[in-house]
Amino acid sequence: YNDHQERLIDLHESLTELYHYLLTTTKLGHDAMDYLQGRGLAKETIEDYQIGLAPNDGNIASQHLFNKGFVQEELLDSGVFTGANDDLRDRFRGRIIFPLRDRRGKVVAFSGRKLPGANDDQAKYLNSPETELFNKSQFLFNLDIAQNESRRAKELVLYEGFMDVISAANIGLKNGVASMGTSLTQDQAHIIGRYSKRLLLAYDGDKAGLEAMKRALDNMQTWSSRLDIDLLLFPNQLDPDEFIQTYGADAYREFVSKQRVSPIHFYRFYYRQHYSLNDDQGKLNYIQAMAKIISQTDTEVEQAIYIKELAEDTGLSQEVLTRQIKQVRQTEK
Ligand code: ATP
Ligand code: MN
Ligand code: MN
Ligand code: MN
Repeated sequence: YNDHQERLIDLHESLTELYHYLLTTTKLGHDAMDYLQGRGLAKETIEDYQIGLAPNDGNIASQHLFNKGFVQEELLDSGVFTGANDDLRDRFRGRIIFPLRDRRGKVVAFSGRKLPGANDDQAKYLNSPETELFNKSQFLFNLDIAQNESRRAKELVLYEGFMDVISAANIGLKNGVASMGTSLTQDQAHIIGRYSKRLLLAYDGDKAGLEAMKRALDNMQTWSSRLDIDLLLFPNQLDPDEFIQTYGADAYREFVSKQRVSPIHFYRFYYRQHYSLNDDQGKLNYIQAMAKIISQTDTEVEQAIYIKELAEDTGLSQEVLTRQIKQVRQTEK
């Protein structure tokens, strides 16, 4: 970091302390604290992640920083404040604050969640804008912790939301990361591949999560092809955090170890939802999509297994399907 960046990091650390103090030890933080504990977060987790609360009064935070010797230009450069000339407004007013730490553990940005009682037209989450410290396309939440934990667990978990990362950490699974609500970028795929040989994709179980996980899987395989990938398909539209809240920590650990599926089986599930196997066109589309994926598997034994499944799904003979897959292989070359 250069000198200016060091200052901005100090500013973020100062705010983190203030927000965390307001949440955990003042009356202002009462409702937010109830909300977080109602979501099952232990005090220790709230401490570990230094979760906080931005006051509704827009001046408390800027005054705090001025008292610490920061100047207006620095407040604006941090991205946390908007406005100008003695009319600085805290972007995150009235929100629960999650400090965003870079891979070296420094707070470089914040995400703010609205409280349940808040206005309906407010976005659920608000992030700091891009700054010289915060580059969203390279950022992975919790990487500072997960880089060590994934070495121990021999696996990194990619979640869709950072609340899922925190919720898993809350039950002792600390090897998770998340992008900040954007789809996975090439840079993020490379970073993940650098820290781990194995990746578990654990996106939300709703339609949007399934689509996002399909894109992430496609991208991981083209951008970081040496990774060994498994996936989780959460039932009843649940996200990982909701699964933990609903069924408990033991059930979650059991689910993670027993219900993981391979990429091929993920695609099978995905395309079976997309194409109707009851009509010829749907069947054809399904076979084409799966043939492409099966043709990319390494060994003939694997191919034989998947072709058998494809035959079961479609009612076509394994011979016909094998020929189709060979054809796809030829055209790909
Ligand atoms: P919660 O459990 O608090 O509702 P979540 O983690 O389930 O949060 P999702 O709605 O599943 O959140 O969204 C996943 C991620 O997408 C969030 O972690 C956040 O980074 C991002 N996100 C969601 N809604 C918004 C929004 N309105 N504006 C910006 N980012 C958002
Ligand atoms: Mn504390
Ligand atoms: Mn979610
Ligand atoms: Mn959620």
